[in-house]
Amino acid sequence: MKLIRFQSDQGARIGIVEHDNVLDLTTTNIPYRTMTEVIAAGSKGLDILRQAASAASVRPLSEVQLLAPIERPGKYLAIGMNYAKHLEEADKLGVARSKHQVWFNKQTSCLSGPYDGIEPGITEKLDYEVELAVVIGRPAKAVSETDALDYIFGYTVTNDVSARDWQFHSPTFTMGKSFDTHGPIGPWLVTADEVPNPQALNLRSYVNGELRQSNNTGNMIHSIAAQISYLSQAFTLEPGDLIATGTPEGVGVGREPPVFLGSGDVVRCEVDGIGAIENRVI
Ligand code: MG
Repeated sequence: MKLIRFQSDQGARIGIVEHDNVLDLTTTNIPYRTMTEVIAAGSKGLDILRQAASAASVRPLSEVQLLAPIERPGKYLAIGMNYAKHLEEADKLGVARSKHQVWFNKQTSCLSGPYDGIEPGITEKLDYEVELAVVIGRPAKAVSETDALDYIFGYTVTNDVSARDWQFHSPTFTMGKSFDTHGPIGPWLVTADEVPNPQALNLRSYVNGELRQSNNTGNMIHSIAAQISYLSQAFTLEPGDLIATGTPEGVGVGREPPVFLGSGDVVRCEVDGIGAIENRVI
């Protein structure tokens, strides 16, 4: 199932995308008003949505304004240096290697819709990172790698927009990863049952139509299962929590010479089997 949030005169609504149409679930009697509630309801929630879909009003997908497919999650975590060649790019920037997984937070206030504009803000080194993102479906604490994928509700596409100058103000990266509008995600959540192997998806980014990044999630250094297991050793991952699983090589800062985004540039991020988001720099 492809689940969306979209704008209406009465506020945000939730729906299902089927082909080129939106089934507006808000017009049915489902007991959920937010995507977070749907996610927390688990497989029972999805069963209720499936049953309700036949009674939903239908409108063309092209006529709705898509929002970030989840409301503000409790956590937005992102792993750094998780593809070998991107690790080499980070070496050039002087980022210290770690024998552990390297994690940072994106503040959840940075989240924006799949086609929303990116505001540069104060940075002079605006950059893009296509990533597969995971949405947690149920509380995960100290889970094994073997069990970890069972805790995933679904997947979406993210651009881990980065302010490279501010990123290195502090070792946590957080300042440069959390500017307002620097967290576009979407266009929908694809439920986990439709993604049999999240480690076999091609992902790409384009700037103004020029291919910049192209790789496969099978080339991650730390698998998605290893990521969830590792994080959950320290704290509980909760329904709706968002995890960006790393970007491959080809980011602007890694090019010679480095190239950063400017006003009017359009970044497209695609993950096969999930979808594509496209955001213009304001
Ligand atoms: Mg990233």
